[in-house]
Amino acid sequence: MDLRYSDSDERFRVELRAWLADALPSLPPKPGADDWTARRAWDTRWQKMLFDAGYAGIDWPREVEGRGATPTEHLIFLEETERADAPYVGVNFVGLLHAGPTLIAEGTDEQKKRHLPKILRGEEVWCQGFSEPGAGSDLAALSTKAVLDGDHYVVSGQKIWTSFAHVADHCELLVRTDPDAPKHKGISWLIMPMDAKGIEIQPLRTITGSTEFSQVFLEEVRIPVANRVGAENDGWRVAMVTFSFERGTAFVGELIRTMSLVEEIAALARRIKRGDGTAWDDPGLRRDLGKIAAELDALWALTRRNITQAERGTGVPGLGGSVFKLAYSEVRHRIGDLAMKLLDRAALSFENVGSMESGIHVERWFQSMSISIAAGTSQIQRNIVGERILGLPKEPG
Ligand SMILES: Cc1cc2nc3c(=O)[nH]c(=O)nc-3n(C[C@H](O)[C@H](O)[C@H](O)COP(=O)(O)OP(=O)(O)OC[C@H]3O[C@@H](n4cnc5c(N)ncnc54)[C@H](O)[C@@H]3O)c2cc1C
Repeated sequence: MDLRYSDSDERFRVELRAWLADALPSLPPKPGADDWTARRAWDTRWQKMLFDAGYAGIDWPREVEGRGATPTEHLIFLEETERADAPYVGVNFVGLLHAGPTLIAEGTDEQKKRHLPKILRGEEVWCQGFSEPGAGSDLAALSTKAVLDGDHYVVSGQKIWTSFAHVADHCELLVRTDPDAPKHKGISWLIMPMDAKGIEIQPLRTITGSTEFSQVFLEEVRIPVANRVGAENDGWRVAMVTFSFERGTAFVGELIRTMSLVEEIAALARRIKRGDGTAWDDPGLRRDLGKIAAELDALWALTRRNITQAERGTGVPGLGGSVFKLAYSEVRHRIGDLAMKLLDRAALSFENVGSMESGIHVERWFQSMSISIAAGTSQIQRNIVGERILGLPKEPG
């Protein structure tokens, strides 16, 4: 990999910066956290603006209306959008970050044509129906069943923790198509239209008060066989492709945002009074923050390597995504803990205390707890790293 930027990379950066400087001030104010209709409209409006300017699907192939950018341009795009504080993927993170990429790798031409341009134009929002009450970490134990009836599957069961289900048009859904096969061999990956008959969505409230998750109940939902991605009963392999994007590249934008968070915490420490000075006078705090900043730099270097390797190879990131996801989750926990220590008693409230903008740090601390659970817990990533990368013996059972 060549770490230097070419003249054409620099031209790309300058053009993108100029476009962002023009586009961002035209955005209306962000809607309230629980105003889901408005949030969907806001997020998809930004997506449409990216599309019209030729920046949507930056690393997606041109055939599906992506930009087909080089790996370096992709990284520049992430750096510059973060530097300008541009919106991130929002409610369509599933469509843009892993369902879309899975269709690119595994979908039929018809599926790609039908969905990918709409995802890029902000016309289609996706959710993920993988987890079930009895199958989280042990995902292959899922029991939502799909029975073939002519040219449709009839699907019944329950999904849980489905982020943004109530604003989604389609769902990447894992179902059991062969109950008699060994558990990994009887699963299929389907595209479920969220307006199909028999779907009931019940929102759940998280510890931060958000209703972004739902339980999704499925009762005899008819899904065309043409909506199956990959062969029948080969859904576990397709799900691994989805995971390689979800763990490997979906957190990259967040990583850059987290680097800014370190700056924010340093600025906060300089404002918080301690004795005759400020919290920033504490060499222990400066050392801890410096170590975190160095780890984030290392993760950024790892990301650059992973993206470059993936885009120059098959386009699908490898198991290295689990290393990234595990290390990133742990750094996020430590950043949260450090912010809580810094805030001291102000960390007890979601509200800002005095003139300090403490509430957002408390909320982020709670959010950081979810990062080591979403897309597979840290324990599961450790198992993957141990067994599938390091070749250690498999866990019993
Ligand atoms: C923010 C967020 C968004 C999410 N969005 C979605 C979504 O959109 N769609 C979706 O389908 N799911 C989603 N999930 C669900 C997520 O994938 C699951 O929560 C996760 O896979 C863990 O499953 P579980 O909650 O059932 O925990 P469990 O599997 O019950 O795990 C409980 C604990 O046991 C540990 N454990 C379990 N098995 C092992 C093992 N073999 N070895 C060592 N330790 C083990 C786990 O690490 C964990 O600490 C989301 C979760 C979060 C937090």
